[in-house]
Amino acid sequence: MSSLETANSYFEQAADVMGLSSNMRTLLKTPLREVKVQVALEMDDGHISTLIGYRVQHDKARGPMKGGLRFHPEVDDDEVQALATLMSWKTAVVNIPYGGAKGGITVDTHKLSAGELERVTRKFVDEIHDVIGPDKDIPAPDMGTNAQVMAWIMNQYEKFHGFNPACVTGKPVELHGADGREEATGRGVAVLTRTLFEHQKRDLAGARIAIQGFGNVGSFAAKFLCEMGAKVTATSDAHGGLVNEEGIDIAELIRYHDEHKTVKDFPGADAVSNTEILTADVDVLIPAAIGGVLNAENARDVRAQYVIEAANNPTEPEADEIFEQRNILVLPDILANAGGVTVSYFEWVQNRQHFRWELDRVRSELDRILAAGFNRVVTIAEEKKVSLRVAAYILGIGRVGRATVLAGL
Ligand code: NAD
Repeated sequence: MSSLETANSYFEQAADVMGLSSNMRTLLKTPLREVKVQVALEMDDGHISTLIGYRVQHDKARGPMKGGLRFHPEVDDDEVQALATLMSWKTAVVNIPYGGAKGGITVDTHKLSAGELERVTRKFVDEIHDVIGPDKDIPAPDMGTNAQVMAWIMNQYEKFHGFNPACVTGKPVELHGADGREEATGRGVAVLTRTLFEHQKRDLAGARIAIQGFGNVGSFAAKFLCEMGAKVTATSDAHGGLVNEEGIDIAELIRYHDEHKTVKDFPGADAVSNTEILTADVDVLIPAAIGGVLNAENARDVRAQYVIEAANNPTEPEADEIFEQRNILVLPDILANAGGVTVSYFEWVQNRQHFRWELDRVRSELDRILAAGFNRVVTIAEEKKVSLRVAAYILGIGRVGRATVLAGL
C-alpha cells in the first residue's frame, strides 16, 4: 500500500466516526498546492545530476504551513503528499497555530560530498523560495537533513528576502536555532511512552525497548528512555541491527555512531538484520526510520505490547487492524512524534521575538503541550470507543475542519 493510501485510509476511518460529508472529506484531503521542481546539481567531478524536489502544502486553515524536508532515495509525489497531510493533523492534535506541509528531494545523501549536499540544498531553495517563508510555509529537518542543511536554507532564503531566521526551524543553536530542538522529537517520544505507561498503570523502569533507526529521533528516544530506567535491548539502522538482552549501553553506542556513522559492528551487542528488530522480544517497539515497515506480512510476529510510532506512517492499515485484534496498543505518529514540530514552533516564536528561551522552559512547555494532546486523545478514544489513532485523527481533522468552516471559503 502506498503512503498516501495509508494516510487516506486512516483519514476515512476517522471521518466515518465523525460522520463527515463527502464534500468536506474531499476539501480536507485535497492539498492547496503541490510544487515539483528540477534541482540541477553540479557534482564534484564536473558531471551534472538532475534531481527532483517537492514541496506539498496541504492546509493553512490554522496558520502558516509547517513540515520537514526529507532527502532520501524513496521520496516521491505520493510520499510527500501523504506526509504533508499528516502534518496538518499533527499540528492540530498538539494545537499549535500551523497548517501542514512536507517536502523533499529524491537523493541518497550518503553518496553526496558535503559540498554537493550544500549545492543541492541551495539550488532547491532557489526553486521554492517564493512559496515558502515565515508566514507561509516553514521547513524543518526530517530524514537525511539536519541543522547544517537548515542553516544553508536560511542563508539562501535571506539572499532573496533579507534577514529572516523564522523562515526555517531546526537551525544550529549558534545560528538562531532553539535549545532543545535537536532532541525534541526523540525526547517527546520518550516522554509520551512514559505517559502511556503511567496511564496503563505500568512501570517504565526495566521495560525492554526495540528501536528501528538510530538517527536523530531514534538515538534521542533511546537516550531519554534509558534515563527513565527502560532498557533498549535492540536497535538498528539502514546497515544492520543489534541485540543485547542485558540492555545496550546507549551512551557508548551514541559515541560509536558519532565516529562510524552507523550502529553496525558495535562491539557491545550481537548483530541481527534490521528487520528482525521489529519482531524482537520486547515490551515496546519504536519504529523510528522509514514508513510502511509494519505490514500484513510481519504484524502477527510482532511481540511488543506497545508500538510507539516515532517514524511517520510506519504502520500500514492491515497491520493496524492486526494490532488491534491482538490488543497491541499503538501510539500514532501524529501524536507520538509531535515533539519535533512543537519545539520548531517554539524556535519560530523565539526568532520572531528575538528572544531566547532557556532549555528548562523549552522542555517544560513541550511536556505541557504533549500531555494536553495525550489526554485529549485518550478521552476521545474512551468516549467513542475507538483506537488512539482514530481518536487522534478525529481531534486533528475536527480542529482543521472547524477552522476551515469558521474562516469560510
Ligand atoms: P535520520 O536521517 O536522522 O535517521 C534515520 C535513521 O533511519 C538512520 O539511522 C537510518 O540509517 C535509518 N534507516 C533508514 N532506512 C532504514 C531501514 N530500511 N531500516 C532501518 N533503519 C533505516 O532521520 P530522523 O530525523 O531520525 O527521522 C526518522 C523518522 O522520524 C522519519 O520517519 C521522520 O519522518 C520521523 N520524524 C522526524 C522528526 C525530526 O524532528 N527529525 C520529526 C517527526 C518525525
